[in-house]
Amino acid sequence: MSGEPQSDCLFCKIVAGEIPATVVRQNERTVAFRDISPQAPTHVLVIPRAHYPNAAALAAAEPALAAELLVEAGEVAADEKIDGAGYRLIFNTGAGAGQTVFHAHVHVLGGTPMREGLV
Ligand code: 5GP
Ligand code: ZN
Repeated sequence: MSGEPQSDCLFCKIVAGEIPATVVRQNERTVAFRDISPQAPTHVLVIPRAHYPNAAALAAAEPALAAELLVEAGEVAADEKIDGAGYRLIFNTGAGAGQTVFHAHVHVLGGTPMREGLV
């Protein structure tokens, strides 16, 4: 069924507590945790507990949950005190765009001046 946990998915294992993560926020539907290989002073991933392979699939299946991911990303930015200076949200989609974990997630990046440009 759509959204069901996948046994071979790293982020489903983090949701299940089978792999440890530094969780900074969570609720019944989402989890936010620090990226294991931070690319900026603040680098947090916000994921739905439900498994969808990417942001578009999540939004198509559960638009309210996709919106909640953005609300939580904003709360992470406020908690990390990077909302004033500005921060970047990234949804890599597809291997060619750098997606390596095929469970929808948004990167929250900030705490340093961000490079201009998108690619
Ligand atoms: P993607 O490249 O798919 O957009 O992002 C996946 C992110 O997951 C990468 O930034 C990578 O550093 C992070 N990551 C991979 N494995 C782990 C892990 O075991 N724990 C945590 N916290 N982050 C991970
Ligand atoms: Zn998953």
